[in-house]
Amino acid sequence: MLRDAIRSLAEAKIAPYAAAVDEEARFPQEALDALVANDLHAVHVPEEYGGAGADALATVIVIEEVARVCVSSSLIPAVNKLGSLPVILSGSEELKKKYLGPLAKGDGMFSYCLSEPDAGSDAAGMKTRAVRDGDHWVLNGVKRWITNAGVSEYYTVMAVTDPTKRSKGISAFVVEKSDEGVSFGAPEKKLGIKGSPTREVYLDNVRIPADRMIGEEGTGFATAMKTLDHTRITIAAQALGVAQGALDYAKGYVQERKQFGKAIADFQGIQFMLADMAMKIEAARQLTYAAAAKSERGDKDLTFQGAAAKCFASDVAMEVTTDAVQLLGGYGYTRDYPVERMMRDAKITQIYEGTNQVQRIVMARNLP
Ligand SMILES: Cc1cc2nc3c(=O)[nH]c(=O)nc-3n(C[C@H](O)[C@H](O)[C@H](O)COP(=O)(O)OP(=O)(O)OC[C@H]3O[C@@H](n4cnc5c(N)ncnc54)[C@H](O)[C@@H]3O)c2cc1C
Repeated sequence: MLRDAIRSLAEAKIAPYAAAVDEEARFPQEALDALVANDLHAVHVPEEYGGAGADALATVIVIEEVARVCVSSSLIPAVNKLGSLPVILSGSEELKKKYLGPLAKGDGMFSYCLSEPDAGSDAAGMKTRAVRDGDHWVLNGVKRWITNAGVSEYYTVMAVTDPTKRSKGISAFVVEKSDEGVSFGAPEKKLGIKGSPTREVYLDNVRIPADRMIGEEGTGFATAMKTLDHTRITIAAQALGVAQGALDYAKGYVQERKQFGKAIADFQGIQFMLADMAMKIEAARQLTYAAAAKSERGDKDLTFQGAAAKCFASDVAMEVTTDAVQLLGGYGYTRDYPVERMMRDAKITQIYEGTNQVQRIVMARNLP
């Protein structure tokens, strides 16, 4: 029922704008409005804080169905979870009450600020500093590649509080867009997910009350990594969605397109491609849903499973969307058809929330 409801909403209110959002590289406001109106923009927020209280699997299905028609729009529910999960996992009751309510109501989105210009895969090498000053912290630094920066009201920022301790000297904070000293860089010009703004976040002597720290001092990096264990599954969901969208489109196209006097769907070479695409998607779906169940239960092997789901599903998304372009021939290579956008959008799922090389490092360190 949930899938049917989201699919109809996505097809009616999000899909019609997907090509324009990509072409104009503009924020998918129509998608945000539709998601907020239907309480689907941050479904993971627990009921006690005014949210829909969706479990990890339901959240995956929401993201998957939105990504099936528009990956840029799927970053709205996905990054709202990414940005706010540190508060849910490690924040004080006061922080939860203060920030999760507005998020659930649609009054403010959340972003997640871990990466920096010189700290990507090696995120613990970050330089952004937070220095204690009485009952405040003062933050200085540059966060890079921040999804929904400038649109979000709230930012979970990881910053160094003790430079002698590397990852154990990193703490997490909630920074608000309206805090003095917060500003944003120009939107990045990207290959895909062009509707999702990616900008730098500048922190210039941003002075925030000490109770904005998420959890204890020095636990920020651990919280950031624990968050990714859960949210990598949402990237797998995006990958799954875009792959399914590409297969669905290609499946229809091959039945219409005629060459050599018959529909190209009648050629076995085409049928085998479609079979392989569907098989890979289904394998990715099973892995992703199993990982979502593990996320919900907090199983011990979540770290391996989350990385495996993200890595596998995103590799499948890249293969399937590339094959979908192939199935449409020359038409697939043009912006008159949606599959080239899907192929460009799929690529990011192999890169963010840890590249697929990093996922393989994570899996190798946590072999079952
Ligand atoms: C569109 C977009 C949105 C993003 N959104 C966010 C966000 O909201 N918040 C946020 O904090 N970050 C975000 N990111 C950042 C993203 O997570 C990083 O880009 C990613 O982790 C890779 O870091 P990097 O770009 O510095 O690449 P690098 O770390 O420089 O990696 C370059 C290459 O080297 C490889 N490599 C690095 N180390 C190893 C190793 N040990 N073994 C093998 N290979 C290795 C990588 O896999 C990659 O292929 C986003 C990025 C993009 C492009």
